[in-house]
Amino acid sequence: MNWGKLFLTCLGLTLFSYQTYAQMISKQGLLQYQSDFVQAQKKIDSRLADTANNTPVSIELSLQKAQLYMAFQRADLLQPLLSDIQQQIMTQDDVVIQSQWHFLSGVQLYLVGKYAQASESFKSSSLLLEEVNSQQEYAYLENFILMYQAVNRIYLQQYEVALDELTAVFKRAEKNNWPIIQARSLVFIGDVSYALKNYEQALEYYQNAYNIYPEDALIYRAETRMYEAQMVNVVGDRSVAFEQLELAIQVFNNNSDDTRLANAYVLKSYFYSKVPDDAKALEWIAKSVKKREELGNPIEIANAYVHYSAQLAVDDQMPQALEYAKKAADLAEQHEDISGQWDSYGNYAKLLNQAGDYQQAFHYMQLSERALLKKARLDITSQTATLNAQFNLSREQLKSELLDKQAHLFEERNTLLNQQLSMKQREQQQQNWMLIILSLALVFFLGLCAVIYRLYIKNKLLARRDTLTSLHNRRSILTLGEQALVSSDRYQHALSVLMLDIDNFKAVNDHFGHEAGDRVIQYVADICVATVRKPDYVGRVGGEEFLLVLPHTDEDAALLLAERLCKEIVQSEKQSLGQVEQVTVSIGIATKNIKSKRPFNRSPNKDLSQLIRESDVALFAAKELGRDQVQVYHCDLKLKGDAANLESTTPDMLRTVS
Ligand code: GH3
Ligand code: MG
Ligand code: MG
Repeated sequence: MNWGKLFLTCLGLTLFSYQTYAQMISKQGLLQYQSDFVQAQKKIDSRLADTANNTPVSIELSLQKAQLYMAFQRADLLQPLLSDIQQQIMTQDDVVIQSQWHFLSGVQLYLVGKYAQASESFKSSSLLLEEVNSQQEYAYLENFILMYQAVNRIYLQQYEVALDELTAVFKRAEKNNWPIIQARSLVFIGDVSYALKNYEQALEYYQNAYNIYPEDALIYRAETRMYEAQMVNVVGDRSVAFEQLELAIQVFNNNSDDTRLANAYVLKSYFYSKVPDDAKALEWIAKSVKKREELGNPIEIANAYVHYSAQLAVDDQMPQALEYAKKAADLAEQHEDISGQWDSYGNYAKLLNQAGDYQQAFHYMQLSERALLKKARLDITSQTATLNAQFNLSREQLKSELLDKQAHLFEERNTLLNQQLSMKQREQQQQNWMLIILSLALVFFLGLCAVIYRLYIKNKLLARRDTLTSLHNRRSILTLGEQALVSSDRYQHALSVLMLDIDNFKAVNDHFGHEAGDRVIQYVADICVATVRKPDYVGRVGGEEFLLVLPHTDEDAALLLAERLCKEIVQSEKQSLGQVEQVTVSIGIATKNIKSKRPFNRSPNKDLSQLIRESDVALFAAKELGRDQVQVYHCDLKLKGDAANLESTTPDMLRTVS
C-alpha cells in the first residue's frame, strides 16, 4: 500500500515565484488554482506564450506551472518541465530560483518513489537557500523544504526523525500564522501514526488538520476528508467512511484533480472489497487503473495494478489477474519504493501459487520477502538510530543531572562550610567575650584582693594599735618586746624596759571629767613617741600606763631618756589640755645587759615578763617616793609575784633619780 503518497498534494499552490513570494501565499493565489487544474494550466501557458522572449518572466511562469503540477501531484508533467527549464535556471545565477528548482525536482523524485535521490535534491535546495543572507524573507520556503524533507524520510523508514522535523515545522508555522503549512504538517504527522499502525491517533491528527485549513482551501480539505474516511473505515463506521469519500470525490471532480481522483477510486474499491461487494470493488479499481495509466506515475500505476489483479482473481479472471500482477511487479522492480515492491511481489507470488505455477510463485515470494527484509532492516536501522539518539539524549540528561547534583552538593557543602564558619566565628566571639569577662573578673578580683588586703593590713595594724593613742596596744608591745629581747640575746646587746604611769590621774578624771583625762593620756603618748628613737617601741598597756621597749639601750641610756621624758611632760605646751595645767609621770626602768657591771642585769634567764615585773617594781618605788620621778630597778629589790602586789619595796632599794 502506498497511501502515504496520497497526502502529498496542493502544497505547490502556496509556493510561488521568488519575486512575488509573499503575495503568492495569499488566498487569491490559492483560489487561482482551486478552481480547476486544466484552466489554471491553460492560463499559465497563454501567458508564457506572450512573454516568450522575456527570460526572467518566462522562468517565473514556468516555476508557477511546476508548482501547479506539484500541487496536483502530476509527476508525469513535472519531470519534463523541470528538464526543460534546468539549463535556463542554472545560468540565471539566482540562488533562490535554483533552490526552488532543486526543491521541485525533489518533489518530482519523491512522487515517483526515488526517495534517496529526492533527499539529495532537498538537501541541495536548503543549502542554496542558506546562502541567501536575508533568510527571514524566505522563511516560508525554508519551512516548506523542511516539511518535504521530513515527509520523504517516512518512506526511508526514518519515522522518529521525520516526526521531530514535522513537529518543528508545525510549531514554526503556528508561530508565524501559516495555516496551510500548519495543517499540512499535521497531516504528515498523522501519516507517521498511520505508518506505525496507530489509526485512531492518525484520525485525530487529520481531524485537527481539517479544522485548521482555511475554508476556501477546498482541495486540501477534501483530501484531508479522504484520509479521515480511510481511518474511519478501519476504526469506525464504514457508511460514514463512504459518505466522506464521496464528498471528497466531488471536490476532486470539480477541480480536474485527476491524481487525487484516481487515489479516491482505489480507496472506494478497497472499501467495497471490505463490504464485501466484489463487483463494485472491481469496477472502481478498473477506473483507477485507467486514470493512473493516463497520468503515468509508475509507482502509482503499479499500486493500482496490484489492487486490480487481486480483484480480478477474486472475479476468477486468472489470466488477466496474472498479467496485471506481473506488470505491477515489473514496474516496482525499477523503483525504490520498497513497500510497493513487497506489495507487488507478494501479490504476484500469491496469484502464481493460485494458478499452480509454484516455481515462479516461490521466486516472487522470495523477492517479496527480500523487500520486506530490506524494509525491516531499514526500520531497524532507523530504530537503532532512534535508540542511539535516545540513549545519547538520556546520557546527556544523566550527565547534566549529575552535574546539577554535583553543583547542588557543592552548594550544600558551601552552606555547611559557611554555617561552620559562622559557628566558629560565633564561638570565637563568645570566647573573646569570655576572655574579656574573665579578664574583667580577674581585674575585679585582684582589685578586691587588694582592697581586702589593705583592709586586712589596716585591720592587722588596728589590731595592734590602741584606739585612743594610736600606740601599740598591750598585745602588740609585748610581742615586739619579745622579739627585741630575742634579738638582744642573740647579739648580746643591752635592752631596757620603761614602765610609765601618769600621776594622780584619778584626780584629773574627777575634777575635769573623763574626756579631759583622755586628752591627758594622748598628750603623754604624743610626747613619748616624739622623744624616743626610731628603733624604740611605745605601747599603752593599761588605762594611763605606758610600756616602752628600748633595744640597744643600757641602764644609763634608759635613765637619760626617762628623765628627759619626765621633763618634757612637765614642761611641754598644754594648750590642748584645757584646764589641766600640771601633768607629771612616774617611770620605772628595768634592763637586761650581759656586759652590765651590775650582776642582776646580766642574768641570761631574764625574760620579758621578768623585765616588766622589774620595771613595775621600780615604778611602784617611784610612786612611793613621791611621784614625778624615775626609779631604776635595783638588784636589792625583791620581786614577789606580781609587780602590783609587791610587798616590801623600800626607797633605799631603789636608785632615786629625780
Ligand atoms: P597614782 O599617782 O598612784 O598612780 O594615782 P592615780 O590616781 O593615777 O591612781 P591609779 O593609777 O590607780 O588610777 C588610775 C585611774 O585612771 C583609774 C581610772 O579611773 C582612770 N582611768 C583608767 N583608764 C582611763 C582612761 O582610759 N581614761 C580616763 N580618763 N581615765 C582612765
Ligand atoms: Mg595607774
Ligand atoms: Mg596613776
